[in-house]
Amino acid sequence: MESRDRELEKVKEEIIACRKCSLWETRNLPVIGEGNHRAKIMFCGEAPGAQEDKTGSPFCGASGKILDNLLESISLERKEVYIANILKCRPPQNRNPQQEEIKVCSPFLDKQIEIIQPEIICPLGNFATRYLLRHYGLEKQTQKEEGGGIKGISQLHGMIFPVDNLPYPLKIIPLYHPAVATYNSNMIEELGKDFAALKKMI
Ligand code: URA
Repeated sequence: MESRDRELEKVKEEIIACRKCSLWETRNLPVIGEGNHRAKIMFCGEAPGAQEDKTGSPFCGASGKILDNLLESISLERKEVYIANILKCRPPQNRNPQQEEIKVCSPFLDKQIEIIQPEIICPLGNFATRYLLRHYGLEKQTQKEEGGGIKGISQLHGMIFPVDNLPYPLKIIPLYHPAVATYNSNMIEELGKDFAALKKMI
């Protein structure tokens, strides 16, 4: 086992033992993250849904099917990338993650990123995009010019945010959450365009 495999195993054990918020009480399985420990590209969702909670695998329900198709459209397989979420335990009734949950759970994601050192991270949807842009000190770039506030994923998707304060190159490229295509089929085209642009960069 290589050292990064061992380090990721340690993160997994910490997640399984975590009791820092109450989500462990209602979840079935924690969803650690899955894929290539040497991935150049990482996708980050929000939190496990019902299907993920049952299996322990990220994006294995309806949005996972869409993600798989998008990956396939650019000749990528799941085993080549790494897929994780900000929250490792399912929020009851799929409610939005709470700030306190993000605060206590996100260090696990941070560690996974530090160990894997991907060249590109694609946050999927608003929660992951806000978290990662803030984490890397890029949120100023997302502020609206007039009226303040932070731009949402409809304005940020497909944009490239280089992170320049790390000893290795990293770009954050926000994408729509694949779930949008489950309730608005037009969005599949938008997602497809962003994935096609992503393919050119990898
Ligand atoms: N939605 C997410 O954000 N993550 C998953 O793993 C599944 C659905």
